[in-house]
Amino acid sequence: MPDISVLSVASEYWPLVKTGGLADVAGALPAAVAPHGVTMTPFIPGYRAIMKALGRKRLVHEYASLLGSPARIVAAKHGGHPILVLDAPAFFDRDGGPYADAMGRDWLDNGLRFAAFGKAAADLAAGRAGARPFDLLHAHDWQAGLAPAYLTYAASGAHRPRTVMTIHNMAFQGFFGADFFPRLELPQLAWSIEGVEYHGGVGFLKAGVGLADAITTVSPGYAEEIRRPQFGMGLEGLIVGRQDRLSGIVNGIDPAIWNAATDKALEATFTANTLEKRTKNKRAVEAVFGLEPGDGPLFVVISRLTWQKGMDVLIEVIDHLVGLGGRLALLGSGDAAIEAGLREAAGRHPGRIGIRTGYDEALSHLMQGGGDAILVPSRFEPCGLTQLYGLAYGCVPVVARTGGLADTVVDANLAAVDADAATGILFSPLNYESFAHAITRAVRLYADTAAWTRIQKRGMAADFSWTRSGRTYAQLYARLKENA
Ligand code: ADP
Repeated sequence: MPDISVLSVASEYWPLVKTGGLADVAGALPAAVAPHGVTMTPFIPGYRAIMKALGRKRLVHEYASLLGSPARIVAAKHGGHPILVLDAPAFFDRDGGPYADAMGRDWLDNGLRFAAFGKAAADLAAGRAGARPFDLLHAHDWQAGLAPAYLTYAASGAHRPRTVMTIHNMAFQGFFGADFFPRLELPQLAWSIEGVEYHGGVGFLKAGVGLADAITTVSPGYAEEIRRPQFGMGLEGLIVGRQDRLSGIVNGIDPAIWNAATDKALEATFTANTLEKRTKNKRAVEAVFGLEPGDGPLFVVISRLTWQKGMDVLIEVIDHLVGLGGRLALLGSGDAAIEAGLREAAGRHPGRIGIRTGYDEALSHLMQGGGDAILVPSRFEPCGLTQLYGLAYGCVPVVARTGGLADTVVDANLAAVDADAATGILFSPLNYESFAHAITRAVRLYADTAAWTRIQKRGMAADFSWTRSGRTYAQLYARLKENA
């Protein structure tokens, strides 16, 4: 078995800090690749909440100045697993979220914060910051995008680990003005089209995609889509130019966390053979959301309330959904205008539409365990996790045909139903007509209890654990190390 050391560099890490799927992936990957001879050490920013949550810390490296501020790298353990943390109070010791203040305004120094993170990651991986050198550095999203640049432009002769850049979402690229470049302490050589320069400024994700030895994204479908302007969002040319290094690896779900048979957040645990127990969860969801109890279809949505997630179109279809006898429980947070639109629609249908804003991990589990179908009408979706949780929990996904959604859900068309392969409903394009039609199909299918149950069971039998993807990442690392 190969023995490969990987430094995983991500700005989120479940369960310590999470705003989206990135955290789930960064949290699950170390255990997923471990059976294949890969020792993965996560490296994360020392946000205030993280520094509080971690117990004993060991000093690994001290910077008198890391891009202008004192900083330390410390080692700690979380859940028995070693992690490395960038303790840089000037950058990370503040109230609010990882990227924005409590009002949702991006921190003005985000460029410098995550440049420092990328530089420290490169120092660590190269063996310049106390720890032993790593074979590979795996950078996730724009916040880690400069790490491959700091390795590329390090003094010659230094150990240069191989690098992987994973794009979890092309919509967030980390772009900062030209005046920011001198603060990065990179050589002038880096200010070029082959380096970090992008449209006259500094592009973090662009730098990572341009300089990494391998590029991955979180589904084969999204890997295909980002070659086109609509999904590549400016980086499509670079992606096409480097497509021989690009692959798509679907995210897995962690069966220790998402297991309907053992889930403590459920009112009643269940398996594919005891689906009737889901009714207890359905009653609990209805109670939480102030919905009329009933046997009719209960749709759920667990989502960031954003344009990407198609929440504006969801608002449009609400009347249609209720008109068909459906009910909806929605948990989400994000855009205030979308929230207002949802609340207005809910106001028209008391007892039929329930909305909770905020972030509630336990409630999201209960909804997957009690809802009949989960709606995911995304405009684009690099991978998507909520449809995978839905599959595992017998909450049938009704999803837009894009990216990872199209890769992981099998539409209940005639052929798939005949072959007993259907696991959900797909629709495209994302607009009122096709989304409304998908909901009509779901309601009709739900009325045929035997057919619906088969779809639920087929989804629950699908294996979206990390087993397959963990192996694929490990194979990629092994190839890169061999060719070093
Ligand atoms: P993205 O990362 O684009 O937001 P994903 O589907 O990949 O979308 O991941 C979203 C993750 O966040 C899932 O684990 C989902 O259950 C969770 N989630 C989203 N919104 C909420 C919320 N309001 N409360 C609890 N969990 C949420």
